[in-house]
Amino acid sequence: MKPTETTGPVDVAIVGAGAAGLATAIFAARKLRKRTVVALDGARTLGSKILVSGGGRCNVTNRVVTPADFNGGSRNTTKRVLAAFTTEQTIAFFSEIGVELVEEGGGKLFPTSNTATTVRDALIREVERRGVHILTGRRVSGIERSGEAFLIDTGSGDPLRAACVVLATGGRSLPKTGSDGGGYTLAERLEHSLVPTTPGLVPLVLDGAFHKGLSGIAHDAEVTLAAQGSKPVRTRGPILWTHFGVSGPAVLDISRHWHRARLEHRRATLSASFLPGNDFALAEKHLLDLAASRPKLRLHNAISTFVPDRVAKTIIQELNIHSTTSMIGLRREDRRRLIQALLAWPLPVLDSRGYQHAEITAGGVPLSEVDPSSMASRRCPGLYLVGEILDVDGRIGGFNFQWAWSSAWVAAAGIGKQFGP
Ligand SMILES: Cc1cc2nc3c(=O)[nH]c(=O)nc-3n(C[C@H](O)[C@H](O)[C@H](O)COP(=O)(O)OP(=O)(O)OC[C@H]3O[C@@H](n4cnc5c(N)ncnc54)[C@H](O)[C@@H]3O)c2cc1C
Repeated sequence: MKPTETTGPVDVAIVGAGAAGLATAIFAARKLRKRTVVALDGARTLGSKILVSGGGRCNVTNRVVTPADFNGGSRNTTKRVLAAFTTEQTIAFFSEIGVELVEEGGGKLFPTSNTATTVRDALIREVERRGVHILTGRRVSGIERSGEAFLIDTGSGDPLRAACVVLATGGRSLPKTGSDGGGYTLAERLEHSLVPTTPGLVPLVLDGAFHKGLSGIAHDAEVTLAAQGSKPVRTRGPILWTHFGVSGPAVLDISRHWHRARLEHRRATLSASFLPGNDFALAEKHLLDLAASRPKLRLHNAISTFVPDRVAKTIIQELNIHSTTSMIGLRREDRRRLIQALLAWPLPVLDSRGYQHAEITAGGVPLSEVDPSSMASRRCPGLYLVGEILDVDGRIGGFNFQWAWSSAWVAAAGIGKQFGP
C-alpha cells in the first residue's frame, strides 16, 4: 500500500496500525465523519501479525469470552471493556466488512475463507473507505504534549500535530512484525507506569533429553505449575513435544505463569499429567484390569492406551523398566512408579523461547491508568490506549483479538465524546 501523506494538524493520530489500531481507526472514523484520522505505523507492511495469527488463519474471536479468559490487570476493567463490544458485535462487524466467521472446536471463530489475509485486507479496505490516512514506515520516536495538543515525532519532517493520540503499539512479541516494545517508552514519557513485561503464549525450552526423541508428537495432557506463594495453575489440552522442549495450547497457556513466577523470583515447578481426568486409583484399576484380561500384553502397549506409542516407550525406558515386560510380569512397585510418573511427569523448564516466538506480551500499562468507559488515559488528557500495550493478556482461542476489538470500540466512543456531537 502507498503511504498517504497528510499536511497540517490532525484530529486523531493512531500510533500503531495492528489489529487494535486499525479497528480504532475504523470505529473513530465512522463516528467522526468530519474529522481527520491518521494511523501511523513503523512497519512497511500493515497487519503482519494478523497474517501470521492462528497459524495463518486468524482466530478472530471466541463464541464465549469472559474476564476469566484473561490474566493481568483489573478483572473489573476487562469485564467492562469486553461487555461494551461483545463477540456478537464482533461477528456483525466483520460481516459488515465482508468477513464471515465460522466456529471451530473450543468456540474459536475463524474466517470462512480459512485465511488471515481476508481479515487483514478487509480491515485495511474499510480504513481506506472511511477516509483514514495511513502512513506506513513511520516509526514514532516521541510524543510530546504541546498546550492542548500533541506533537508526534515520526522521524520524517516536522512533527505531526494531533488533538488526540491513541497508543496502539502492541507489546514486544514477534518484534519482526514491528511490535518491539517502543510503545511502552512512549507511554512512560506521557506519565504512565509499566507492569514489567514477560512473554506469554510461548513454547518452553526443557532441560534433559526426554523430549528430543518425541519431536512432533502431540497428545492430551494437564499441565500444572506449582509456584511458591500462589495456588497451582492448571491448563488442559494438547501438548506438542519439540526438539527444544514442549509447546501446544496447554503449555502456551501456562507459559505466562511460569514467566511471572520467575520474574518475581518464586520457585516454580512444572509437570504434566498424561492421564488428564484420571487419578491414581482409576489409572491403577485400568492397568490391573488389563493385566487380568490380557496378561501377556506388553507394558508399552498398555501404556499406549493412554499416550502415543513412542511416548509410552520413552517413559518406560526413562523409568528403567525392561522394554519386554508384560502386564503380568509388572512388579507392584514398578506399576505404582509408572502411574505416579504418568500423573506428574516433570517438565524441567530452562527458559521460554522468548519474545521472538511469543504470541503475546504479559504486563504493560496498568489498566488502573485508563478509564474503562473510554480507554482514556488517567495520566495524560487526550491520550487513549488500546490493545496489547495494556496489562492484559488472554489465553489461546481468539481472546487477544477480542480484547483488541473491544478496547478499540471503547476508545472510539471516548474520542467521539471528546470531540462532542
Ligand atoms: C504468531 C501469533 C499468532 C497469534 N494468533 C492469534 C489468534 O489467532 N487469535 C488471537 O486472538 N490472538 C492471536 N495472537 C495475538 C494477537 O495477534 C495480538 O494480541 C494482537 O495482534 C494485538 O494487537 P495490537 O494492535 O494491540 O498490537 P499489534 O498487532 O502488535 O500491532 C502493533 C502495531 O504497532 C506498530 N508499532 C509499534 N511501535 C510503533 C511505533 N513506535 N511507531 C509506529 N508504529 C509502531 C507495529 O508495527 C504494529 O503494526 C497471535 C500473535 C502471534 C504473534
